[in-house]
Amino acid sequence: MNIAIIGAGLAGLSCALTLEKHGHSADVFEKHSDICFQYKLAELMTPILHRPIDDAVKFFSEKYDIHLKPTTNVQKIFVHSQSESAFVEGNLGFINMRGDHAEAYEKQLAEQLVNTKIHCNQNINYNEISKEYTHVVVATGDVMDTQQIQPIEISLASTFAGAIVQGDFIPNEVHTWFDNRFAPKGMIYFLPHSKNQGTLVLVYPQYEEEMVKDKKTLWKETLVQASQTLNQNLIIEEEFSLTDYIVGKSKYPRIGNTFFVGNCMGAITPFLGFGQSSSMLSGIYAAQDICGLGDYEELSAPLYKDYEDSLTLRRAIERLNNEQLDLVAKSLHVQTIENLITKPNMSILKVLSHILNPFIRNTK
Ligand SMILES: Cc1cc2nc3c(=O)[nH]c(=O)nc-3n(C[C@H](O)[C@H](O)[C@H](O)COP(=O)(O)OP(=O)(O)OC[C@H]3O[C@@H](n4cnc5c(N)ncnc54)[C@H](O)[C@@H]3O)c2cc1C
Repeated sequence: MNIAIIGAGLAGLSCALTLEKHGHSADVFEKHSDICFQYKLAELMTPILHRPIDDAVKFFSEKYDIHLKPTTNVQKIFVHSQSESAFVEGNLGFINMRGDHAEAYEKQLAEQLVNTKIHCNQNINYNEISKEYTHVVVATGDVMDTQQIQPIEISLASTFAGAIVQGDFIPNEVHTWFDNRFAPKGMIYFLPHSKNQGTLVLVYPQYEEEMVKDKKTLWKETLVQASQTLNQNLIIEEEFSLTDYIVGKSKYPRIGNTFFVGNCMGAITPFLGFGQSSSMLSGIYAAQDICGLGDYEELSAPLYKDYEDSLTLRRAIERLNNEQLDLVAKSLHVQTIENLITKPNMSILKVLSHILNPFIRNTK
């Protein structure tokens, strides 16, 4: 058996690590000169979106012997709408770095590999490599690469504007804004990575009606809004902009001995476009199948289910106007709702569906 993994991202490296732990090694190919996500920024892994994983660091460490050192842990998530602010409190996950950063998760994963070689500067073509290897894992982080091999279902394309900003922050407090004035059908979020540095991101879907709005203007307004909420002038250290980030899923997780993992499979939650932990899981599951320890189709079925549930939630939230978003934020003040969201093993999708139900009915 000789195995190729195309892409040294979270899914590809988790796959390589799991193969190694079971006595196999793969050739990992990475198109960039270094192992790093395209953008230097902070990302969030929160149990709110990834039940039943309550503590991702503990989960990957204890269950799969994969060790992650996040930058900070999250104790409070604020939800701001046009006229309301609420927060939920508890062990709400972890913030980690990606991209060209010494503590980036992809670097941490690569460092745990013992025998596996990562071949950098290799922009790999699936058709060519599949002739040379018995097993190919497609982990390029782009579901459009999957489309060249099998049907995919595209749910949305997203546009991002973001920056690493400097200021005076509380490292365990995340802020989110759901406000159609600045983030039409999307969101803004702020993830602190230290007392004086954080990542601010604006993300919204590229629907025709949203694209008439000027991204630069929305981003400027985002900065003003975030500065106001955080009560300080944010200083931009490094900006990034990204369009056409496709959220979609493959029809099949596996065809013959080709495995689709991470974004190439649809291991992402369309609600917020978060997919770090499911990408890692998909890579682990593909490796388990290759090692004869499980069936990738069965193992990945819950990831497809999460995708569908999360897409339903996204479509519901997209229909809400600012007044309705205010009411949703207000409902987070209700203790029972906050308890439900932060309770271990509670599905946020169920809770949010419950909160959103009246609005969904009203907007139909
Ligand atoms: C701006 C932004 C913010 C995000 N924030 C969050 C967040 O806060 N929380 C969260 O959970 N998720 C977040 N996500 C999503 C998360 O980053 C992805 O779910 C995750 O990175 C997908 O992992 P992957 O392994 O599929 O792809 P990636 O991590 O993107 O890795 C793919 C790798 O394949 C390489 N590659 C591509 N093509 C080739 C080729 N032909 N040959 C060789 N190598 C190739 C790439 O260079 C890359 O290294 C965010 C995404 C973006 C864009």
